[in-house]
Amino acid sequence: MAVVEKGLVMAPLVADQSGSQNFAGAKNYSIQADTSVIRVSLLGTGTPKPIMERFGPSILVQAGSETLLFDAGRGCLQRIVQLNLSYKKIDALFLTHLHSDHIVGLPDLWLTGCLKSKRVAPLIVFGPVGTDKMIEYLQKAFAYDIKIRIEDDKATAEGCKLLAHEIQQGIIYEKNGVKVIAFEVDHYPIVPALGYRVEYNGHAVVLSGDTRYSENLIAYSRGADLLIHEVVIPPDTLNKSDPKYNVVAHHTTPQQAAKIFNETKPKLAVYSHISNPYGRNEQELIKQTKANYSGQVILGEDLMTFLIGNTVSVMDKQ
Ligand SMILES: [Zn+2]
Ligand SMILES: [Zn+2]
Repeated sequence: MAVVEKGLVMAPLVADQSGSQNFAGAKNYSIQADTSVIRVSLLGTGTPKPIMERFGPSILVQAGSETLLFDAGRGCLQRIVQLNLSYKKIDALFLTHLHSDHIVGLPDLWLTGCLKSKRVAPLIVFGPVGTDKMIEYLQKAFAYDIKIRIEDDKATAEGCKLLAHEIQQGIIYEKNGVKVIAFEVDHYPIVPALGYRVEYNGHAVVLSGDTRYSENLIAYSRGADLLIHEVVIPPDTLNKSDPKYNVVAHHTTPQQAAKIFNETKPKLAVYSHISNPYGRNEQELIKQTKANYSGQVILGEDLMTFLIGNTVSVMDKQ
């Protein structure tokens, strides 16, 4: 039995446009039609590099009644709109760490969200130590706009708030059968940096966040159906005097990822947060991984969606 069914065609789905505007070209394939599966959509598979093909890191996980967003990189709001999903459907945002590429989309998600969707409850943000301060300062930075939006645009005061929760390794969210577990990864000198495991209905997806090879990630990834891991494409040789040495050193090479996949044995491994500092052909990643790993591994793309049930299915970008 094939574990991965590429290009799965979905049955027509009921669009959810509550609070959302009708955008030309919006597709309905984000809607959670089958509530027994975990649905994972890559909103942005890129890095700080501002390119159109790969927006900033952000992943949407829909499980049961919960709609959870992991990181809010550049353009996450546009991608949410492309999924035809209302901004106010986001029950919580989980940050892996405070590198700007993972959070620059947050003010947009928050402020445009409260203006356009008329959200009535605060946007809840979970993140590592430092999140409280960042959220406090963000609200100060945008205080003028918030005041005007409430007075002039009739946005609700509650809907314009951010509610921060600093978290540590462990179960940090449990609601309607959905469990989110945070775990520490190794993105030194960025400490702490977190990965997340989401469990629902006997299945699990793990999101690595930014990390170099991490034994703790391996421990938390065992038994997961889908492992979405970051990666960097290194040059053939690298020495410490290379100005981009740290970019490679702070992330995971395909050889290291192959080792992680061999130890965790996900039904499907997917690369996201694809760092390519030397401008190499991205297919190198798959080639170098497959040299040491015989399981299923693919290169993630923005708007690629996965359905996790008894099998893991991939819906290509449409
Ligand atoms: Zn990053
Ligand atoms: Zn980072």
